Amino acid sequence: MTPTDAPQRRRVVIAGGGTAGWLAAAALAQQLGSLLDITLVESEEIGTIGVGESTIPTARSFHRLIGLDERRFMAETGATFKLGIAFENWARIGDRYIHAFGETGQSTWMGAFHHFWLQAREQGFGGDFGDYCLELRAADAGRFAIGGKAPELSYAYHLDAGRYARYLREIAEQAGARRVEGMIERVEQQGEGGDIVALVLRSGQRIEGDLFLDCTGFRALLIGQAMGSPFEDWGHWLPTDSAVVVQTHANEPARPYTRAIAHGAGWRWRIPLQHRVGNGLVYDSRHLSHDEARDRLLHEIEGDIVSEPRLIRFRAGRRIDAWRGNCVALGLAGGFVEPLESTAIHLVMIAVTRLLQLFPFGPDCSAAAARFNALAAAEVEGIRDFIILHYVLTERDDTAFWREVRAMEIPASLRERIALFREGAIAYQDGADLFRVDSWAQVMLGQRLQPQRHHQMAAIMGEPRLRQVLADMRAQIARQVAVLPTHEAFLRDYCPAEGGEALLRRQVG
Ligand code: FAD
Repeated sequence: MTPTDAPQRRRVVIAGGGTAGWLAAAALAQQLGSLLDITLVESEEIGTIGVGESTIPTARSFHRLIGLDERRFMAETGATFKLGIAFENWARIGDRYIHAFGETGQSTWMGAFHHFWLQAREQGFGGDFGDYCLELRAADAGRFAIGGKAPELSYAYHLDAGRYARYLREIAEQAGARRVEGMIERVEQQGEGGDIVALVLRSGQRIEGDLFLDCTGFRALLIGQAMGSPFEDWGHWLPTDSAVVVQTHANEPARPYTRAIAHGAGWRWRIPLQHRVGNGLVYDSRHLSHDEARDRLLHEIEGDIVSEPRLIRFRAGRRIDAWRGNCVALGLAGGFVEPLESTAIHLVMIAVTRLLQLFPFGPDCSAAAARFNALAAAEVEGIRDFIILHYVLTERDDTAFWREVRAMEIPASLRERIALFREGAIAYQDGADLFRVDSWAQVMLGQRLQPQRHHQMAAIMGEPRLRQVLADMRAQIARQVAVLPTHEAFLRDYCPAEGGEALLRRQVG
């Protein structure tokens, strides 16, 4: 390429500075900064949604992509480690299971590990399914370590959403992104529904661009209001539509997992950070009023309150075209499935990664947009099915909410998965699936879906050998967990946060 062929700089305008906006700004500035002029507009008057504090392991690859130093990021955002989610009271009141990251047992090409475990259970041995997952056992024991002699753990983070957006902003600005404070009042387009030309702020300032990223949250100012991309509503499958959120002081050592505790009309989360705990009660407003939800949350949470309870309303579903014309929606503007499996930040990260791969360096990008939209649709539909699974497989009938969700019509794709598992314990991961076979098996078994039969490869092994192999696996995991330090001790050494040290010292004592 001669100097005269040098690509023209593209102007990228990001509307909104929540987690989605700043993640996009940081990644674009880090990776393509020399080719782009990046401007992010956000309004302090509106603020951000202020939740989104539990992640999944893919966050680590994305952080590597944007060159983020783990220890510093964790210290700055008060982050803790996450090994999975504990589901309490889901299939029956009193039940508890953990959906952990990492692998459960060892699978073969013919079938997954749970077939071996089911064979053992049939013969009266084998213990808990969770005994074969290192991450699960470490989570339950409150232990964690990485590096040195520690076994390799698959992990994610709990983080403070406000601190996280500020931290990403620092990275993005250092890499050359420019921030403009202001309220977007108008979106200027080439004709109705045509490409966006500029954002016009209340101050009168006009921000022109070639590519516009809609990160305005549920408002979806660009993709919804201006470009008119329709919203596909999934409320009939995912009926929770509200959350009350509140932050508390910690009253126990930070557990390395999120808690998702079902109640009569939804569920409640507890996310431990170094300096506080995030709590939220997710509910179906047809079955619980806002006042009842707030009272229930305040009654059930533990620890002193550090913020006023806040109500958030949401709607499950997705934009049919997240990328339309020269506008790409990221984060809540592009759609939302409720936070039960902490997948929203992942969806932002994967969308930003795809945008980097498919980046429109010229005016015509309809094929790239079509590919982006097809991949996004397939992935979010898989996540949607996985979340519906937790509701539809319940045995609870103690409230109208649970009676409704256990009897609801579900997507055909999920019906087929449940039938396969019920018939022969078969679980699978398709190309677009985020969740692996291990996750499907953990949740299906945790929700008490009993397979009628399983693959007979384990029977071929014979009982003595199967017994020995399983006992060895359990013993190895128990040994690995026993040598790990406690989660708080590791946090204190590895990444103590501002405001978190005193708390950790107190807890570790
Ligand atoms: P927002 O944070 O709402 O940001 C929108 C931005 O747009 C703000 O900066 C705002 O000021 C700006 N803006 C809007 N309109 C204008 C305007 N007119 N002019 C100028 N600026 C404007 N995700 C997870 O991965 N894990 C979780 O545990 C999790 N929990 C959640 C719990 C709940 C109850 C909800 C609702 C969501 C949860 N999420 C979770 C999702 C997660 O919060 C979001 O995906 C993430 O925070 C990204 O949000 P956002 O940046 O798209 O939107």
